[in-house]
Amino acid sequence: MPGLRSQTLAPRERDLRNRISRMSECVFCRIVDGTIPAAKVHEDADVVAFTDLNPQAPLHVLVVPRRHIATLNDLTADDDGIVGAMVRTAAHLAREHGYDERGYRTVFNCNRDAGQTVFHIHLHLLAGRGFTWPPG
Ligand code: AMP
Ligand code: ZN
Repeated sequence: MPGLRSQTLAPRERDLRNRISRMSECVFCRIVDGTIPAAKVHEDADVVAFTDLNPQAPLHVLVVPRRHIATLNDLTADDDGIVGAMVRTAAHLAREHGYDERGYRTVFNCNRDAGQTVFHIHLHLLAGRGFTWPPG
């Protein structure tokens, strides 16, 4: 919709336009829609999981919702099902790789202090080595 100035749009149209623009720039939205490649290990109606590009453990998978949600701060009660699906997918993948009894770590980073670099929520699943606590 080039040429339309934001202030001439109704709030709902402006929100929609902003969302479309964010999604087209979001690397995880582009992995979800297949326009950039990733090593996908799981896909269903709600979530997609793929191997992290810069793995920090023998198994390092990111579980993301298909829908763009920038940070944990943006979740609403309507998203409870999606978050449940993300956590259960991580547990399922950990079990599938034989790490359920031995253990694994799951992490959501939110904003600067936690080191969030991609602003489309993602659950890290890390397994295959021991992890320290407290985290760095
Ligand atoms: P965070 O620091 O929690 O935002 O984590 C972002 C993660 O996304 C990092 O572990 C990156 O290595 C990973 N990452 C960034 N771009 C890609 C990509 N194109 N494919 C797979 N993983 C990616
Ligand atoms: Zn996104």
